[in-house]
Amino acid sequence: MTAPAGGLLAGAARETLREKLRALGFDEVRFARVGPGREDSLREWLAAGHHADMAWMERTAEKRMNPDLVLAGARSVILLGVNYWSEASIENQESRIENPKWARYALHEDYHDTIKPGLAAAGRLLEQECGAAETDYRYYVDTGPVLERGWAARSGLGFRGKNGMLISRTHGNWLFLASILVRQEIEPDAPLRKKPLPPAEAEPAGLLCGKCTRCLDACPTQAFPRPGVVDARRCISYQTIENKGIIPRELRTGIGTRIYGCDVCLEVCPWNRFAQEGRRVLLSSRHDLAERGLAEILALTPVRFAEVFKKTAVKRLKLTGLLRNACVVAGNSGDRALLPELVGLAVHEAPVVRAHAVWAVRRLAGESPASRLLQEARAKETEASVLAEYSADL
Ligand code: SF4
Ligand code: SF4
Repeated sequence: MTAPAGGLLAGAARETLREKLRALGFDEVRFARVGPGREDSLREWLAAGHHADMAWMERTAEKRMNPDLVLAGARSVILLGVNYWSEASIENQESRIENPKWARYALHEDYHDTIKPGLAAAGRLLEQECGAAETDYRYYVDTGPVLERGWAARSGLGFRGKNGMLISRTHGNWLFLASILVRQEIEPDAPLRKKPLPPAEAEPAGLLCGKCTRCLDACPTQAFPRPGVVDARRCISYQTIENKGIIPRELRTGIGTRIYGCDVCLEVCPWNRFAQEGRRVLLSSRHDLAERGLAEILALTPVRFAEVFKKTAVKRLKLTGLLRNACVVAGNSGDRALLPELVGLAVHEAPVVRAHAVWAVRRLAGESPASRLLQEARAKETEASVLAEYSADL
């Protein structure tokens, strides 16, 4: 590499860095210049309460809007995409429609863990090739105080769809994004828009959506107050993963068979037609999760839960969160054979599980059989949130 430490990395030297980063397993490598970003949309989203109870989004907002607060002197950001589209995974899940549905990304070992070694190797590469010190860069995969989708749009990696996701013209909606903030100045890649925006202007959603509104129309819980904006409070992904408490009753039927996350607004996107199998260097598949039946999940013990979901992102939901979601899916399933498990869960130690189990029993059994089935559980119940489920309108 020819660029001196701190000098502009451009031309052939930049392309060599791109190739070496690709060789580490990143399917997309793009560069953006760090500049003053006017992220009004983030401010508005937070002010409207669309982040639900994700207080960390508020706490990190300033950093997200000002990369200098994350890495003083940051001049560039390297955007890295890992393609997780897999035909085998889709076929496996679609051939088992009787089973609960998982967001596609969840059918892997936790991607934070599998992508991080690639980022650590990328950091070492920056040290060797650009003369960077360890303190001259910071990397994140998805959870850092970095507006990855905004930077990715700026770098031309893709565009922000009306579904709020970063959409790639070659990978569709199926990219994990990671980023490295660096003090090294790197010549930026061109964005997809022909007429670049002023440096401080944020990329609006829907650049290459045209008149399409499929994602907005298909959302089962009407979580889009407007194109490009997701109200987490109504989003199944938030409710089944981030929310640790009671799922609002009015959203439960919309959850359908989705036990963990939701891909509806991604799956319907026509840009997915270009998606191809990735190299999967930084991923480890766990397609077997899609083979678990609902009865098996409802009967999970803590030991079995730890065994089955070891190394996956689902383990962070904990057994109580998964049982809660499984109760919702069971309530929507119409399968009365699940009633014995659900009645058992109506006396589970966690109130959040009991509440959703009661809802599911009432929904599956109908009012008077449910009252008989739940008689014992109700007699013991003292928790207000659970008692509310016995009398709620269904
Ligand atoms: S993830 Fe599902 S619930 Fe959330 S906005 Fe998309 S379609 Fe709606
Ligand atoms: S489904 Fe249509 S509107 Fe939604 S992101 Fe894809 S192209 Fe855009």
